[in-house]
Amino acid sequence: MDKKKLMDFFLNLDRAFFLEEQYKAFAKHDSPLPIGFNQTISQPTLVLEMTRLLSPKKSSKVLEIGTGSGYQTALLAEFSAEVYTIEIIKELSIKAQQRLSTLGYTNIFYKISDGSSGWKENAPFDRIIVTAGAGSKPIDLINQLATNGKMVIPIGTPSMQKLFLITKDEEGNIYEKNFGPVRFVEMVGDYGWNVK
Ligand code: SAH
Repeated sequence: MDKKKLMDFFLNLDRAFFLEEQYKAFAKHDSPLPIGFNQTISQPTLVLEMTRLLSPKKSSKVLEIGTGSGYQTALLAEFSAEVYTIEIIKELSIKAQQRLSTLGYTNIFYKISDGSSGWKENAPFDRIIVTAGAGSKPIDLINQLATNGKMVIPIGTPSMQKLFLITKDEEGNIYEKNFGPVRFVEMVGDYGWNVK
């Protein structure tokens, strides 16, 4: 992907648009902020870093787990062909859908459910991004990754995760690279920390 275009888009994307009234004033702070339901919009520089690691192509079909405010979704929709985004909290998904349709995106498909097992009907995906911290590597997501695909996911404990870039080669071999410590809200469901 074109790094300069990404940077320009990132700098022009108004984060306040994705926040509730009382948090808009803090939109330029490089920190996570509450979006309700004990969830947070991610730190902008981390959203940028994860998008760079994922490096979607204009032809990529992308799966996102954790729509949240829709902020990361906007970057994905701008730089890929289609985004399939799953959010477990209905109210957050609906608000994100309204925001992203106001921005004019027509290449985003929404699902309200536990996304830890992916979106089988639309697999495989060229890129998969998880924006909540997982307790372990979600095997269903790895299975839904296309050959030559890339997945960015925080994996660890509730207090600390490591950001992994997982890639699948032509033969289906899996490689992973650790990009250091990050802290995300908990991914619930089958690969969360409180496994049912
Ligand atoms: N990229 C979003 C991050 C939101 S925080 C943003 O910047 O706004 C992570 C989101 O993941 C939360 O909205 C949470 O509800 C959602 N989430 C957690 N576990 C999930 C799961 N198993 N399936 C789908 N969404 C999940």
